[in-house]
Amino acid sequence: MADRIVIVGNGPAGLTAAETIRALNPTADIVVVNGDTHGFYSKPGLAYLLAGLVPQPRLFSRSEKDMADAQIRVVRGRAVRVSPADHRVVLAGDTTLPYDCLLLALGATAVRPDIPGISLPGVVTLDSLDDARLILKLAEGATTACVVGGGITALELAEGIASRGVETHYLMRGEHY
Ligand SMILES: Cc1cc2nc3c(=O)[nH]c(=O)nc-3n(C[C@H](O)[C@H](O)[C@H](O)COP(=O)(O)OP(=O)(O)OC[C@H]3O[C@@H](n4cnc5c(N)ncnc54)[C@H](O)[C@@H]3O)c2cc1C
Repeated sequence: MADRIVIVGNGPAGLTAAETIRALNPTADIVVVNGDTHGFYSKPGLAYLLAGLVPQPRLFSRSEKDMADAQIRVVRGRAVRVSPADHRVVLAGDTTLPYDCLLLALGATAVRPDIPGISLPGVVTLDSLDDARLILKLAEGATTACVVGGGITALELAEGIASRGVETHYLMRGEHY
């Protein structure tokens, strides 16, 4: 059985994999590479944070102690290169992690359409806790907002911003949600 397991990504996929592997293999060296600024938190919960329905600490499903108790080592950093020939993952800043088994649990991020103005300040996406905090900050001084997208995240975002008293326009391509 593989002894050194590196999991890149600290979302539900990475966390579930780490905890499942630990349950199956009590002695493996398990490392989770966390590319986020924060620990393990619920992304669905970001909608409730935006709407002011839950405080930020309630989003966190695992503490550092939980991870230490499970003997899962969490390393902060972004993986920038995988070197399969010598079984190594390289993080930004040049930390190198050797592995026998590597899992990439990198999730997905919002796609910005290629339209003029898309990179202007104030044009944001909602993928992470830092994004949600930025949106809350922008909403503080805003009178109007525009949310683009026909998915559940856009709808939750529109509801969250509107609940802060900001006049919110919701744009989607089709006739109905
Ligand atoms: C606002 C919002 C609301 C949502 N609501 C719901 C809902 O109600 N119901 C539902 O089922 N789903 C919902 N989702 C989707 C759900 O959160 C995702 O399906 C789920 O998080 C996917 O889990 P994952 O572990 O695959 O990826 P992610 O949660 O995206 O985690 C991947 C992690 O990998 C890290 N990473 C990426 N690249 C690197 C790298 N090179 N080095 C190190 N780390 C890296 C990222 O920082 C990220 O933390 C929502 C998502 C958002 C953003």
